[in-house]
Amino acid sequence: MSEIKILIAGYARPVKGGYLASPSTVLIKDSGKFILVDPGANAKLLLQALKKEKLKPADIHIIFLTHYHPDHILNIRLFPKADIYDGNTIYRGDKEIFYNGKNIPGTTVKIIATPGHAHEHASLIVKTKEGIGAIAGDVFWWDDGQEPKMDKKSLLDLKDEFVKDKKALRQSRLKLLKMADYIIPGHGNKFQITSNK
Ligand SMILES: [Zn+2]
Ligand SMILES: [Zn+2]
Repeated sequence: MSEIKILIAGYARPVKGGYLASPSTVLIKDSGKFILVDPGANAKLLLQALKKEKLKPADIHIIFLTHYHPDHILNIRLFPKADIYDGNTIYRGDKEIFYNGKNIPGTTVKIIATPGHAHEHASLIVKTKEGIGAIAGDVFWWDDGQEPKMDKKSLLDLKDEFVKDKKALRQSRLKLLKMADYIIPGHGNKFQITSNK
């Protein structure tokens, strides 16, 4: 069983000449470890949120990156001592340690390969008091104010202007919708899965 807390609700707003975006940043506490998922790009918000949890950056053991888009990654510089994990490799300084990619070693947190938005994309499945949660990164995301309808079809058809492989993305969405009770999207608010099973 894990405890999770959304430290920052992911946002994405087109602005003149670009974007203002940082993803959902989630803190998982499992098996005595603090895991931070997608530290994002807003250093001020993240440090404030950690402080609220009475945590310092040095207290974070593991940083998990769902994929390699810089808005999900930039804040790793606040955690020079943490191990950086992706879906199958641990980065510790210049060491790259391959692992099974089924769960985060030493924890109950499951890893699911969810390619489509990005080829390397992986999501996390956590068992919590509130049910089974999927930390989905950009398998599901939307611009501020563009929240989709929450029926299965709308969620599967959700537009992704940065998609790399549409077919794979749809499969990944289907997988998470089947497994989870609720989903934390990359940008946007957590939502419950109701009649999709
Ligand atoms: Zn992305
Ligand atoms: Zn994103």
